[in-house]
Amino acid sequence: MLVASNAIVMELVMIDRSKIATRVCAGSLALLVTACAPSLPPRPNGVERLYVLDCGEAQIPDVSPWSPGFNIGKPATFSDNCYVIKHARGTLLWDSGFPDALANVPDGQAGARGMRAFRKKTLASQLGEIGIALDSITQVAFSHTHSDHVGNANLFTSATLYIQQAEYDAAFGADAAKFGFAPANYEKLRASPVVKLSGDHDVFGDGSVVILSTPGHTPGHQSLLVRLPKSGVVVLSGDAAHFMENFDNRRVPGFNFNRDQSVASMDKLAAVMKAESAQLWVNHDSAQNAGIRHAPAFYE
Ligand SMILES: [Zn+2]
Repeated sequence: MLVASNAIVMELVMIDRSKIATRVCAGSLALLVTACAPSLPPRPNGVERLYVLDCGEAQIPDVSPWSPGFNIGKPATFSDNCYVIKHARGTLLWDSGFPDALANVPDGQAGARGMRAFRKKTLASQLGEIGIALDSITQVAFSHTHSDHVGNANLFTSATLYIQQAEYDAAFGADAAKFGFAPANYEKLRASPVVKLSGDHDVFGDGSVVILSTPGHTPGHQSLLVRLPKSGVVVLSGDAAHFMENFDNRRVPGFNFNRDQSVASMDKLAAVMKAESAQLWVNHDSAQNAGIRHAPAFYE
């Protein structure tokens, strides 16, 4: 068997090295990290800028479905951000917020659990203001596939999509609606270059931008660690927790896909924060969000 395997490999090497690279890249994640990283000289950290963009807001009449048994009848405002990471090897968009079309609906749009969603400015216009063309986004990843995170996914068809296999299967499978997903938001990505993940993933190969698998809110929910040269380590929560109070108390929304996974994912993020002295930026925590610089300002 060993001889046969070697023979096959040798034959491939002699036929076409570029085809081997393609085959390896399309295969397992572990191979992809080592085999597909561009052959640039090693850098300690290639992150140049992190932009936080205003990608909408939701008014909630009763926040208790997000924290069962607590804050019953209490209204809340959810912030909603998109994030752009400019790296020496590419530009990653993390989450895309509510659909840009909402910017033309001043009275907002009704959603689940009494929510009303608003958007002041489009994502496209905010990217334009910071000099980022839509087609210069080389990589795109979403914490998960709910409409307040993938609302503008269809704008980024030329970018490589990084998504957990479990989320991909739910989003592009026949039962997407069962998971609360609306395929019209992201259908155009079906033809995108895609890297399907089964765990954590170092996006640029230098440890500076790492997708963290944090399932529970949805089957393949993920969070993002960003190692900023001047500002330190930040973890972007997605909806692993909707606000810091829920994170601190490990409260899980009743409608999450899996409660145990949700708690384990919060524990994982807490361990990462401790090990990396990282801040956790909770996407929907409007109180915390008020203290975070938004574009055109940025973090380095
Ligand atoms: Zn959300």
